[in-house]
Amino acid sequence: MVNLWPGISTNNLCDKHLNAAINESLNLFVRHHLARSYKINGWVRNGCVDARDITSRICELLFEMKLRDKKWNYDFTDNDKIIICDYFKKWECSEKEFEMMIVAIENNKNKLANRCNACKERIDYNKLEVK
Ligand SMILES: [Zn+2]
Repeated sequence: MVNLWPGISTNNLCDKHLNAAINESLNLFVRHHLARSYKINGWVRNGCVDARDITSRICELLFEMKLRDKKWNYDFTDNDKIIICDYFKKWECSEKEFEMMIVAIENNKNKLANRCNACKERIDYNKLEVK
């Protein structure tokens, strides 16, 4: 399951979740699923990706990785960005799915804090980050 944890500042993610988000987004999301027109409506409904702007989120995650001095050998190429943007042009999201996404993203902090103590310690609950 790809989860980029939208709505949570990248510096609030523990190393494990930061790494997982990047790994999933690049290796699975970009290279395999989107190339095969895999339907990602479920991820959108569950707030795992913010369908409004996925490429910026991936860039933010990679930037955070650099700030932490972690090595990452795969470049997020312009071609990857084109694949994602093209995919979302074709992607059909109902109004209802979009509403579900917004609600789910708003709940992501609680969801992640319940799953991971390391992230929970980093999360600033007073900061509202949903666009
Ligand atoms: Zn974590």
